[in-house]
Amino acid sequence: MVIERFAPSPTGPLHLGHAYSAHLAWRAARAAKGQFLLRLEDLDAARVRPEYAKGIEMDLAWLGLDWDGAVLHQSRRGAAYATALAWLTELRVVFTCTCSRRDIRDAASAPQEGVAHGPDGPVYPGTCRERGHALGPGRALRLDMRRAIAVLGGVDEVSRLAFEEIGTGPAAETGVIALDPTTLVDAVGDIVLARRDGAVAYHLAVVVDDAFQRVTHVTRGADLFSATPIHRLLQALLGLPTPVYRHHALVRDETGKRLAKRDDARAIARYRDDGLTAEEVLDHARIATGLGSGAARQSCC
Ligand code: GLU
Ligand code: ZN
Repeated sequence: MVIERFAPSPTGPLHLGHAYSAHLAWRAARAAKGQFLLRLEDLDAARVRPEYAKGIEMDLAWLGLDWDGAVLHQSRRGAAYATALAWLTELRVVFTCTCSRRDIRDAASAPQEGVAHGPDGPVYPGTCRERGHALGPGRALRLDMRRAIAVLGGVDEVSRLAFEEIGTGPAAETGVIALDPTTLVDAVGDIVLARRDGAVAYHLAVVVDDAFQRVTHVTRGADLFSATPIHRLLQALLGLPTPVYRHHALVRDETGKRLAKRDDARAIARYRDDGLTAEEVLDHARIATGLGSGAARQSCC
């Protein structure tokens, strides 16, 4: 059975981009007589607000996108993430990092380092990798990317790991996408798995929950395409199944910029208040991905 999910973070109002993504996933699920699940990625306690969570449910209902079963809240999934972290610790592919953002910025911009930027920002310079710090408050847990690759059998084995892309990445990538160990080491690096404030990181939570919810198809924006090899790698380490991925073009504003969370002007609720119908909003979203008119996308990138 096809199981799709929509996994917004309740840190702002749903906007056209979310409507587009949710509708694609919902339509695919319904066409396949499968399920469409809703998961609230509410791990960032400082930015999450209950009114946004309520707004998400209201907006989806108004758009006519019904979901199956109860909403899954990541904030209630701590035990599952702890189990995953314990397993990765057992595999010896994690280390404790005491660096502040500033330490990382300074080390990464040291002349000999060069500044590689991965999906999570500047690539971690490796400062704490061999230091054996104990875990404690104010300390992050990172994945040791080289060890992770070694544990999975080395670069040749990891190059054989792949995911199926049925949409398109930002450079039109599609089909079977193999992992590239060199990119994982040089451009992704030792990503954070648990943050300094104790919250589990997005990459780990999403992988654990997609497996828990038995998601077969992940529909999401092409901005997350570069995170997918990380997710595939974590699935391999945790022994979890890999869904099929459908990345889609991003909804952009008139100047070609992708919509930001704070872009309240394009919030679904705003369109609703202005008297548009759900169908008009979804049309609008489609056009703004460049599929409708092509105008919005041409001016981007
Ligand atoms: N929570 C993420 C977001 O709001 C999406 C996660 C995903 O679809 O994998 O953009
Ligand atoms: Zn560190």
